[in-house]
Amino acid sequence: MALRKIAQLGEPVLRRRAEELSRDALASASVQMLIDDLIETMRDADGAGIAAPQVFESHRICVIEVNGTPRYPSFPSLPLLVLVNPVVEARLVNPLAGPTPEETVELYEGCLSVRGLRGRVRRPRHVLVNALDRRGEPVTLDWQGVPAAIVQHEVDHLDGVLFVDRAEPGSLIFQREFERFVPPEARVIDHGRS
Ligand code: ZN
Repeated sequence: MALRKIAQLGEPVLRRRAEELSRDALASASVQMLIDDLIETMRDADGAGIAAPQVFESHRICVIEVNGTPRYPSFPSLPLLVLVNPVVEARLVNPLAGPTPEETVELYEGCLSVRGLRGRVRRPRHVLVNALDRRGEPVTLDWQGVPAAIVQHEVDHLDGVLFVDRAEPGSLIFQREFERFVPPEARVIDHGRS
């Protein structure tokens, strides 16, 4: 295993649509090593997740793990997950109309590829995710709240989308100022949690 260099905002690889993996490609030694390296790189950088394009590999793979990470102390724990070819579907009462305010979660996201910056992003708060695990077995996740936002952020990377594209105008803030000026109760707002 090895730490990989993390691409920073502006690198073209972060803006490309990543390629689906065939089962054969997924089983290859190079892709299995990439998955190990993604996990190691995410943990080393205290990330909640990382996607393959962030380490200059344009494949549809992301990993997620939350385990008391100091970057996101308020996040609920999530076990290590490897998602290959993930497809995210927002669970909405009326998909054509988009989410109602109660169907959203807002949080100050950050990104290992946008070092030092946070911004408030509003996303659907309930998603269904279909993917393969690293052995090629199907995985289905039914996630609400912060975990739903995390997986949407990671899958966005596979489509060349970064959180700064979705952040509310005027909400971008550097990490030091975030800690000084955004009170803990404003960092995560789950509008659907009663
Ligand atoms: Zn990111």
